[in-house]
Amino acid sequence: MEPIVLIDLDRCVGCYMCQRACALAQCIEINEFTRFAEVVRPEDCTGCMACERACPYNCIIVLSDESQVPIRAKITLSRVRRYASKRLVTATPKLTVKAGAEIMVKEGVGSLLIPDGVPKIITETDVLEAWVNGKESEPILNFSREAITIEGKTTVDEALRIMLEKGIGHLPVLEKGKLAGMISLRDILRASTVSSPINGGEIIPINPRELVGSYAIDVPILGKVTNMGAYSVLKQRGLKATVVKEGDRVGLISIRDLTKALALGRSLGDFIEPRFVTPVSSKDPIFKAIAIMSEHNLRHLPVLQEDTIKMISVKEIAKHVTWIQVKSIR
Ligand code: SF4
Ligand code: SF4
Repeated sequence: MEPIVLIDLDRCVGCYMCQRACALAQCIEINEFTRFAEVVRPEDCTGCMACERACPYNCIIVLSDESQVPIRAKITLSRVRRYASKRLVTATPKLTVKAGAEIMVKEGVGSLLIPDGVPKIITETDVLEAWVNGKESEPILNFSREAITIEGKTTVDEALRIMLEKGIGHLPVLEKGKLAGMISLRDILRASTVSSPINGGEIIPINPRELVGSYAIDVPILGKVTNMGAYSVLKQRGLKATVVKEGDRVGLISIRDLTKALALGRSLGDFIEPRFVTPVSSKDPIFKAIAIMSEHNLRHLPVLQEDTIKMISVKEIAKHVTWIQVKSIR
């Protein structure tokens, strides 16, 4: 079993002591954006515990394997505000559906907030539903709904539970009753694999050494189809994306790509413009797939599994997150 390094991001001050302590294996780095310590090369960790001893704030625990988690876990669980993006992409209620799609594509987001009294939200799925019903020139407010929000002080585990229960990928974050940010499933997964915060009651969650194949799902493989054809398949199967294969090239077509087609003025009868991406192997560690998804801002990836192609998604990975109870050792 390889060792696991857990870092409590709620207490880390980015002092570089752990990075220096791990100078030989170079497993830990301070993230240049978050300024917190991250395990960047878990596969090289020898379990020497030098980082744990070096941290002046007792943020780090090194476990020889996951069976030790309940024995040594003692860190506090992180809050939503720690991982939420401060960037809020908003729209006015009278904006048309097509203009809303253009903003989503330009800003690279899957939803827009309409801060009109009680905040409302419109997603890519709502936009496409309006498009296929010929209503792309109507105001987005007609297709929005009241946003489910979460307080910044709420724990990450609760945010994840709400998202999975409600089938949503984003939650607007409130601070003192005002919109202050947005947290997504991807934010949570990134946090839970790069560094794992723990609660007195629970630990987050994914075993970074599990293989991609455990998370891959069967999806239809499309060829050259129209935007309407792709939309129908996605809607019928309840998917946000599926795999496309054209000759030797493998790619994806997603709700986001169809929203882009609307923003670019394409018609429903035009052929899809898939994104061709390098698939991961079902034998790759899930950590690698999540790192690729985080780096390239992807919510899905094609997976090569023997002679077929499957897909992994942020949502499917989140569904497999397990919560280990450690209350008994407190
Ligand atoms: S246990 Fe040792 S090898 Fe692993 S991250 Fe800490 S210092 Fe580096
Ligand atoms: S030594 Fe501790 S406080 Fe300093 S950067 Fe590393 S984890 Fe953070």
